[in-house]
Amino acid sequence: MTLDETTSESLFDRAKQVIPAGVNSPVRAFGSVGGTPPFIASASGALLTDADGHEYVDLVGSWGPMILGHANPRVVDAVREAAGRGLSFGAPQTGEVSLVEELVRRVRPLRKVRLVNSGTEATMSALRVARAATGRDVVVKFAGCYHGHVDALLAEAGSGVATFAMPGSAGVTEGTARDTIVLPYGDRDAVTSLFAERGGEIAAIITEAAPANMGVVTPPESFNAFLAQTAHAAGALLITDEVLTGFRASAEGYYGIDGPTAGGTRAADGAGAPPVGGSDWAPDLMTFGKVIGGGLPVGAFGGRADLMDLLAPLGPVYQAGTLSGNPLATAAGLATFAGLDDAAYAQLARTSSTLQSLVADALTTAGVPHVIQTAGTLFSVFFREQPVTTYEDAKDQDTAAFGRFFHALLEGGVYLPPSAFEAWFVSTAHDEQIVDRIAQALPAAARAAAQ
Ligand code: PLP
Repeated sequence: MTLDETTSESLFDRAKQVIPAGVNSPVRAFGSVGGTPPFIASASGALLTDADGHEYVDLVGSWGPMILGHANPRVVDAVREAAGRGLSFGAPQTGEVSLVEELVRRVRPLRKVRLVNSGTEATMSALRVARAATGRDVVVKFAGCYHGHVDALLAEAGSGVATFAMPGSAGVTEGTARDTIVLPYGDRDAVTSLFAERGGEIAAIITEAAPANMGVVTPPESFNAFLAQTAHAAGALLITDEVLTGFRASAEGYYGIDGPTAGGTRAADGAGAPPVGGSDWAPDLMTFGKVIGGGLPVGAFGGRADLMDLLAPLGPVYQAGTLSGNPLATAAGLATFAGLDDAAYAQLARTSSTLQSLVADALTTAGVPHVIQTAGTLFSVFFREQPVTTYEDAKDQDTAAFGRFFHALLEGGVYLPPSAFEAWFVSTAHDEQIVDRIAQALPAAARAAAQ
């Protein structure tokens, strides 16, 4: 049985006439799994409804932001109320102050923060600050880590770049590529020898706090603390990208998992380099997006006050945005945070672990090699036997089996990320009934993967 997708198919045909590949972000085109992407007509709670009237349990959650589920009444009311007061002012407004205060309250290394419109803008701006602060050009990133489509960070990136097996992107100048050094994820020796050789040229290491764009890779024990220590010893900075993990992996993102234990001191004091070494470490700058906008376009970057004060008009680093700090977006972000209490995180953790067991049982019963990896409440499923610690590992999986699994789940009413290189996203709207619907669809999907 295949779904009747008459309306989605004709919309896709129409879209392809005027939008490259018919989509505004590559993975949405279903290129690696084949078929026509359902065009979504509406969404509520954990469910999506497409233009042909099919209903799906959503495990994409708009790639992370919809942590309270779709059309959450509290978030929708806040946006409606904000809209009634004006859509954009291009001038300071209360909501942006409150949202940034919320970020600073929740994440210990954050002293000052600027809001932008996407995760890409956040990482791009953080890099600019790091280069200005150090007077150096070189940036170190890890293979398989995705930081948005910033020119300097597209080399061996995960996410869509992985999905389409691209080494990087055309259109990035040689000069830009030369200033980016890509190392294998988790490889302390590679980091140490690079810094021994070229430490004086390096502005920053940027890393996903826990990689989740080549599938989820649990960082090796104290790897981020090691990166902070190594960077600081050479006068370089550490930028942890929490666009995906922020307020998702835990209440304080991945830093809440591998940062100094709760109750510890706030590491970065804002006046100078944060103390490093042992467990008392902090990134110098962090980036956020997704959850903080509750489904509207928001990103943020922040960290040490002395670094953030390099931004214009205080300092020499230019950074700006017509819609930055937009009142609808900040209202959605604040309403989302209002729903993110301890009970919400406990529920997300329970749902995530139940789903992991259901998937593991179904795949094991069908004899499909797989490994499930986690970073807090985030998880993903690799179609291979051995654990994945690097991008090379992640690429070495049975993507054809994933494609069969994906399409069988879609037919069974479950919408997974259309790529084997992505995390699966649950929300607080994924209750027992919803999880049960996924459980019903899994055995047939696992059998399809086994074929
Ligand atoms: N950084 C990480 C870790 C991400 O996962 C993403 C997007 O998936 C980005 C940056 C870019 O964010 P955006 O798509 O909002 O530009």
